[in-house]
Amino acid sequence: MEIKVLKNILSANDQIAERNRGLLDKNNVFTVNIMSSPGAGKTSLILETLKRLKGKTRIGVIEGDVSSSMDAEAVGKEGVPVIQINTGGGCHLDANMVQNALDNIPLPDIDLLFIENVGNLICPAGFALGGHKRAIVSSVPEGDDKPFKYPLMFHEADIVLLNKIDLLPYVKFDLKAFSQAIRSINEKLEIIPISCTTGQGIGEWVSWLRAQMNQR
Ligand code: MG
Ligand code: ZN
Repeated sequence: MEIKVLKNILSANDQIAERNRGLLDKNNVFTVNIMSSPGAGKTSLILETLKRLKGKTRIGVIEGDVSSSMDAEAVGKEGVPVIQINTGGGCHLDANMVQNALDNIPLPDIDLLFIENVGNLICPAGFALGGHKRAIVSSVPEGDDKPFKYPLMFHEADIVLLNKIDLLPYVKFDLKAFSQAIRSINEKLEIIPISCTTGQGIGEWVSWLRAQMNQR
């Protein structure tokens, strides 16, 4: 019985996610759902990307957080449209929350939308939001075993940004083991090592975004 209820919730979410996708496509807004554990660097990645694409690509941001609006304020300072979703304790975004946010963001004025999910490597993987691609921010201090511990997240993603690569000399992290773990879960998953502190790899990520946008 409980399984049936869960199925219904998920299919309702999928229906709304499809509507979100339709709305985004109609407005030509390429949308990336950014997921990670807390503190891996989702907001830092968004801020670095905004700096690189300023004046070149019109960007909007939806910030998902359990309660605060610190990240939305930081992003808003960059002068882009930003909508905060507070989940009120909820540990993931769902399609309905994103639908409400999309009603409040000027879609005709943006070409690229980032949705920063709630910091959590478990359930965000199970909730489609209607975006086009899923990015994971992993980080060196979290350890190289995360793909094995949260396989669904890595299975469902399109790209992994391995952040805080500048800490590699100080932290036990086997880059090769990390890559092999990912390959064993998802052969097509792209991995880009980055540092939001030094800027390493951000250009490659921006190129990936541009290529994805041009393919559409
Ligand atoms: Mg954040
Ligand atoms: Zn959750």
